[in-house]
Amino acid sequence: MRIAVLSDIHSNLVALDAVLAHAEALDAVWHLGDVVGYGPEPDGVVARLAEVGAVGVRGNHDAAAIGGLEIEWFNPEARTAIEWTRDHISPATRGWLAAHPEVRVMSDITLVHGSPRDPLREYITSEAIAGTNLEELATPHGLHGHTHVPVAFVANGDQVRRCDPPADVPQAFAGERSLLNPGSVGQPRDGDPRASYLVLDPETMTATWHRVDYDIAAVQAAMRAAALPGRLIDRLAFGE
Ligand code: ZN
Repeated sequence: MRIAVLSDIHSNLVALDAVLAHAEALDAVWHLGDVVGYGPEPDGVVARLAEVGAVGVRGNHDAAAIGGLEIEWFNPEARTAIEWTRDHISPATRGWLAAHPEVRVMSDITLVHGSPRDPLREYITSEAIAGTNLEELATPHGLHGHTHVPVAFVANGDQVRRCDPPADVPQAFAGERSLLNPGSVGQPRDGDPRASYLVLDPETMTATWHRVDYDIAAVQAAMRAAALPGRLIDRLAFGE
């Protein structure tokens, strides 16, 4: 079984379509939230995810877009984009987002946006934060996003190690406890502007991260036309 694991798509339909084309005939699509926010096509992204039968969890931007999280949690550009999203999403998009749980367990893998202990807010950015969350994780493995950085944290006994996975090289996590972050489809922040995602084989617990080129200029033009904040438009070109 091969599953495409996507996170932080952020209303970037051009990047999502490039990733789905790259992933081709997979058995399932799982997403880790922040489907909307920042980008210009929230309804298009939700329609495409519904079309491919994606299952997933709610992110902080998704929650804020449907009024489930205080907007004061966000920086000014993010807040402007959330307000724009609130004004532009259809009732169908709102309903699809509202039906999402904050935590979803798929056999021995837990899906969250931020972290297992604080699904909407906490950023897993260090071995120490990962270690505490791995202790609280009810399943051996977890998938999360939120930082927009592709990374794995792996626990073996008391030791937690960080793995910065190279693209296209399968990584095996069977027999260990792990937290895997596919990176961001729609707004990468690790210095590489290409869309990031991973393909997971849950039977062998093998994950392969991938990077995919997409038409960044087209998305920037759509964001300009929507009058979204300039910094959000510029950062797509740099992946930071
Ligand atoms: Zn995000």
